[in-house]
Amino acid sequence: VVTSAGACRRWLAADPPNIEKAERAAERIVAEASRASEVIARVRGLASGKPPMRDRFDLNALVLEIVELARGQIDRHDILLRLYLPEDLPPVFGDRVQIGQVVGNLLLNAIDAVMAEPARGHEIEVIASLTKGGQSVTLAVADSGVGFRAGEAERLFDAFWTTKQDGIGLGLTISRAIVEANGGRIWAEENELDGATLLFTLPIARGANEAETTA
Ligand code: ADP
Repeated sequence: VVTSAGACRRWLAADPPNIEKAERAAERIVAEASRASEVIARVRGLASGKPPMRDRFDLNALVLEIVELARGQIDRHDILLRLYLPEDLPPVFGDRVQIGQVVGNLLLNAIDAVMAEPARGHEIEVIASLTKGGQSVTLAVADSGVGFRAGEAERLFDAFWTTKQDGIGLGLTISRAIVEANGGRIWAEENELDGATLLFTLPIARGANEAETTA
């Protein structure tokens, strides 16, 4: 915002003033300020401690919805997306809207990561499975992208940690807050595609926790 505002002033102060370029800089200011305010609104919502609206839902169906939202980007970048969504996966218990944000965030990060590694095949796998013990479901998003440096798996979740030119570094911080508020865990691993795998768990829905429904 500050950079674009500086540019805007310079274009207006030029002799003659360059109105067209000043206008474009003003448009960038509006777009970036809106983006920042959206991020802050989301963080405030979480920080205000409102309990998630948890209910039972089908994680596979949610994944398919989010994939459809990202379909344009996936096709445009020629990404090979494989989905492993077993039909017999039990329903999970959580805030469907919040978990949708997490899945979307992991998918967009995976797309960014494969696009940053143009020399390799662009592959993303989304794998749902029942966790050992059968008390929770794990969703893994694995990509063949840039990956991360050894020892930095936990850093990815730090607020404002970003390696992207236009990144903010709050996506995974917010994702972790959401997953933990919903009784799950989220972490990162390296994978055999030489990229990153981001995984999170959610408790499966059963009689007892369904009684906690806050919707
Ligand atoms: P942002 O996308 O704005 O950078 P995030 O919190 O979503 O913020 O991600 C933080 C950082 O974690 C990214 O900048 C990147 O360095 C790393 N990261 C996240 N997802 C992946 C991934 N799939 N592969 C490699 N690095 C990743």
